[in-house]
Amino acid sequence: MPETEIIDIAIIGGGPAGLTAALYASRARAKTVVFESGLPGGQIVTTDWVENYPGFPDGISGMEVGDLMHRQAEKFGAEFRSFAAIEKIEPQGIDFLLTNAEDEQVVAHAVIIATGAVPKRLNVPGEAEFTGRGVSWCATCDGAFFRDKVVAVIGGGDAAVEEALFLTKFASTVHIVHRRDELRATKCIQEKCFANEKITFQYSRVVTEVVGDGGKVAGIRLASTKGEPEILLPLDGVFIFVGVEPKNELVRDLCDLSAAGYIKIDHNGLTSYPGLYAAGDVTDSDLKQVITAAAKGASAAFEALRWIDERLCSI
Ligand code: NAP
Repeated sequence: MPETEIIDIAIIGGGPAGLTAALYASRARAKTVVFESGLPGGQIVTTDWVENYPGFPDGISGMEVGDLMHRQAEKFGAEFRSFAAIEKIEPQGIDFLLTNAEDEQVVAHAVIIATGAVPKRLNVPGEAEFTGRGVSWCATCDGAFFRDKVVAVIGGGDAAVEEALFLTKFASTVHIVHRRDELRATKCIQEKCFANEKITFQYSRVVTEVVGDGGKVAGIRLASTKGEPEILLPLDGVFIFVGVEPKNELVRDLCDLSAAGYIKIDHNGLTSYPGLYAAGDVTDSDLKQVITAAAKGASAAFEALRWIDERLCSI
């Protein structure tokens, strides 16, 4: 039977947190493997344009941020494995045994969880049925299908408002549907939105149904939070940006989570389990941005390296 491979640091997730952790760990000459079942870059590759990452005064595409971070980590020796997702992480002495979907295993001295978050669903009739047929969670991927069409964006946070602006490149009208009577997004993004003639607002409204016709989306039914009558808004596409949920399933039995399911970490990225670190959108940090994910990824790698060194010194 072949011996199980032993590595220094396993990083689960290849978004800005995982890629920055990989850069720091591999520059320190630790044997570093990033396990990412999708494209390197994480959620940021589905963002059209990033305006608030320092060093890029004219902005940079989300795809390019992901690609550059990936190349930089790889340049210093981080290895990327994307063929089968890690399905289990179990303590093995003071190490961790990781098993993927193909039952392949690796032992890591330290693990950094950077699995990020996934978009929330509305859980209304028609949402699942019309996914891919007018219902989408990615404006960058699907926006171009809605040239000269009418679409709605659901949500009032940064993601909804930024993506609504992006969709105006294609759609003739973009309705922002928000359950409150004011947006929550960062003010400067809101200002651009208010100045864009293609965007209209449906405030104090919630989607109760995605309505279809001939196998694709034809409209959304909107209830009022202020006692107004329900309305049917005819449209061709619905983009849902109502927040995200942490991808915590690999470690939810191993370390402490917040009430909302985010991994609790200390200021260095350590979870409640020794040798297990976390960074980025899966953690309970307040600010969820590329820059904070990258910074926390660097801290987690630094601490994981220190943990491994201290163990070696005590042997
Ligand atoms: P978010 O900030 O949590 O906003 C979610 C929005 O959806 C809120 O307006 C919320 O309404 C609404 N909502 C939640 N559940 C709903 C439901 N069931 N039905 C209808 N509406 C619902 O999420 P996000 O915009 O995805 O952003 C996630 C994180 O990433 C945030 O920390 C954000 O700052 C960050 N982000 C930053 C940028 C940037 O800096 N450029 C871009 C994208 C995302 P309420 O307001 O009433 O709660």
